[in-house]
Amino acid sequence: MPEKVIIIGSGPAGCTAAIYTARANLAPIIIEGFMAGGQPGGQLMTTGIVENYPGFPKGVDGQELMQRMRDQVAATGARQIMDDVVEVKLDRRPFAVTTAEGNTYETHALIVCTGATARRLPLESEKRLFTRGISACAVCDGGLPMFRNKELAVIGGGDSAVEEATHLTQFGSRVYLIHRRDKLRASKIMQDRALKHPKITILWNKAPVEFLGDAVLSGVRLKDTVTGELSTLMVAGCFEAIGHEPNVGFLKGQVELDEMGYIRTKPGATLTSVEGVFAGGDVQDARYRQAVSAAGSGCMAAIAAEHWLQEKGLL
Ligand code: NDP
Repeated sequence: MPEKVIIIGSGPAGCTAAIYTARANLAPIIIEGFMAGGQPGGQLMTTGIVENYPGFPKGVDGQELMQRMRDQVAATGARQIMDDVVEVKLDRRPFAVTTAEGNTYETHALIVCTGATARRLPLESEKRLFTRGISACAVCDGGLPMFRNKELAVIGGGDSAVEEATHLTQFGSRVYLIHRRDKLRASKIMQDRALKHPKITILWNKAPVEFLGDAVLSGVRLKDTVTGELSTLMVAGCFEAIGHEPNVGFLKGQVELDEMGYIRTKPGATLTSVEGVFAGGDVQDARYRQAVSAAGSGCMAAIAAEHWLQEKGLL
């Protein structure tokens, strides 16, 4: 017997989809991931204190939040499988989902919540100081006490970098925008915002070569990409905003993607180009990328899947 619904991914979107589909008596399987696209639990597993997830007035540790979501999924009776999906076959019904351990599951509906992986600078010092002053999300972490009234830096030159730099001006005494070229990639309106902002200083043609600090970040060594000259910038926080990679490799072109490689969903909904396949969370959202918006779209995907199964007489 095929499953009614399988959910791939165990971040806030996948967990919420599992909770909703379980409570709708769809007996879901959630394939949580193992190695692919970071850890099971998604990007919150590498975040420090989360202060913008409703219900936690004092903030909550990212790992703890995901453990609580996972426990809530378990309490619903949903089957949790810690394995990576390596292949799906969506040109047949029911769909087939194959994992790295070699198990194949059949399912009528599929909910893809595999997230996006934040690009990170490939530096040893970055690994060591990540979450200790280095973050890949200014909206999530910028308001933490360790960054208040301190000099901060954002790395990147796209819309996210400018948006994050602007966001950080609420907390930091000065925000440096470190960009490897002499032109921003960000849209004109965002560029103007950064260029005019009294608290933002753009450092052109600069690339980080080493992050400094023992227990926590104290600064960053920069290399001028034109002259090769080295300099040191003392900052208490560095926010990487150098883009994300949606985790869609296992789909192998079977679902329509947008020009940035994210799953294309119907505006305001979670329907993909393949009937019966729904997507929630960051894998279909390059814009908001928040735990709470991911949870919201996971809920939408679950309800949409339930309605679709009902309509098709598959319940
Ligand atoms: P982008 O891919 O647009 O920009 C990434 C930036 O990081 C680029 O400036 C790039 O430099 C730089 N970069 C990449 N790799 C490195 C590296 N190894 N070292 C140093 N710098 C690096 O990603 P964004 O997240 O900014 O945006 C993604 C999409 O989301 C875009 O389409 C954007 O328009 C959209 N978005 C829209 C927003 C809005 O409308 N308010 C807000 C946020 C995002 P280089 O320019 O040299 O390639």
